[in-house]
Amino acid sequence: MGTSTSPTAAQRNLEIAIIGGGITGLALALGLQSRGIKGYKIYERAPGFHEIGAGVGFSPNAERAMELLNPDLHAAYRRVANPNGEDYFQWVDGYATGELIYKLYLGEGMFQGCRRSDFIDELAKLVPVENVVFGKQAERVSEDAEGRPNVIFKDGECVSADIVIGCDGIHSRVRQLLLGKDNPASYPGYSHKYCFRALIDTCKVREAIGGDEKRGEYLTSTRFMYNGLGGHVITYPVAMGTLVNVLAVVSDPGEWKTDDGRHTARTTKKEAVEFFEGWQAPIVKGIVDLLPEELDKWAIFDMMDHPAPRYNDGCVCVAGDAAHAAGPHLGAGAGFGIEDALALATALEQLDKTARSTDLTEARRVELCSNALSVYNKVRYERTQWLVRATRKACALFHEPLASHLRSESNARFGREISQLFHKIWDLDIGQMVEETIASLEASEIAAEEVRETWLMGSL
Ligand SMILES: Cc1cc2nc3c(=O)[nH]c(=O)nc-3n(C[C@H](O)[C@H](O)[C@H](O)COP(=O)(O)OP(=O)(O)OC[C@H]3O[C@@H](n4cnc5c(N)ncnc54)[C@H](O)[C@@H]3O)c2cc1C
Repeated sequence: MGTSTSPTAAQRNLEIAIIGGGITGLALALGLQSRGIKGYKIYERAPGFHEIGAGVGFSPNAERAMELLNPDLHAAYRRVANPNGEDYFQWVDGYATGELIYKLYLGEGMFQGCRRSDFIDELAKLVPVENVVFGKQAERVSEDAEGRPNVIFKDGECVSADIVIGCDGIHSRVRQLLLGKDNPASYPGYSHKYCFRALIDTCKVREAIGGDEKRGEYLTSTRFMYNGLGGHVITYPVAMGTLVNVLAVVSDPGEWKTDDGRHTARTTKKEAVEFFEGWQAPIVKGIVDLLPEELDKWAIFDMMDHPAPRYNDGCVCVAGDAAHAAGPHLGAGAGFGIEDALALATALEQLDKTARSTDLTEARRVELCSNALSVYNKVRYERTQWLVRATRKACALFHEPLASHLRSESNARFGREISQLFHKIWDLDIGQMVEETIASLEASEIAAEEVRETWLMGSL
């Protein structure tokens, strides 16, 4: 019999393999760590933690999830977050009039942007080196006779764990393994939008806007979106106001085709200039002119057309973009990955305590792990699938033609619809999500125990 002071061989830490060290994988790792769960490892295919040179913003729901996951994670974000000049998100008719369409209150000091690489660097400092293995590309997952998963990497190494969590992004290998390679839900689809992304020197943007200096300062120091026919441009300050993050999105009725199957393609500034030619807001023209002569355009893929029917199977699950990749238009994908991480960390905290203090057979361990991942799926599925659909809807609103004779009515309708979408994201009761996770876990463990007892009685 094991005691709490001398654990038996059957009493051991939960072993968790996190595949992918992007924002979701790192947030999950930090959530596990703050709950005293030591038996996790991040397997990242790249030689180090990395992010592209672009901005990312976190809305209030994401900040609350960060705080509950690990206060150090939230403090890391706050160290790199760039205050907005004012606490409003403003939409301007960039195409026809250059006039304000709507402004939405963000909450005090909320929805600030940062440079992705700055954020990832801060998170990376918080994860112990012994919990990370770089250069490990997951290729296959198999199960042993008891249902315990093994991850097989490209270099041939095989690692066994109680739970495997695919945080491996939109092209998730783990999702393919979970759903099957012939299942269309294993792959993201083209949303018929592509974008140009850049971080541009704030002084240069101000110069390009020209005119009143104060106006230039105002436009570059806070969050704006310029809507127009078939396109939109979003700008917000990052890197302590030295850079403006620019994302210019373009509708594309065609298919996305590249020779190498990549979702980025080299192009020239001319393509962007031609698309935004004639837009009325001077900042749009100014920004497009400041793009580099040669740059990438990024296809926006998502999981709207073929959603994953579930995020778990046995002791394997997917989280973040691997589960529910959405377009960037509501600025919420990374935040939802952080919410996923909180639901998972909550469920696994209970499980780790049980695993360390109870003599569990391998079969019972597998059963409890599988239950915990079913609970995660139940708690997260509906909200995250909604985001994928809502993001497409938001983009359609940004690109809608504005009827000039009905301007005030259409602006008011835009305001109502866009507020509803953002508030559904921002107003999540995160404490309730945590409580629901714990309650569902307890209920599912009791149910599983009852099923087992009934089965044992029947087999006597
Ligand atoms: C233009 C744009 C703007 C956006 N802006 C915002 C925003 O402002 N706010 C917001 O909340 N969201 C935003 N998003 C969404 C956000 O970027 C994503 O939701 C988020 O980065 C996903 O993080 P992730 O960790 O789930 O996946 P990723 O960031 O894709 O990380 C996956 C990791 O897994 C690794 N990996 C992949 N395959 C394997 C494998 N087989 N084995 C091992 N490792 C592997 C990769 O190298 C990578 O490090 C935006 C998205 C875009 C495209």
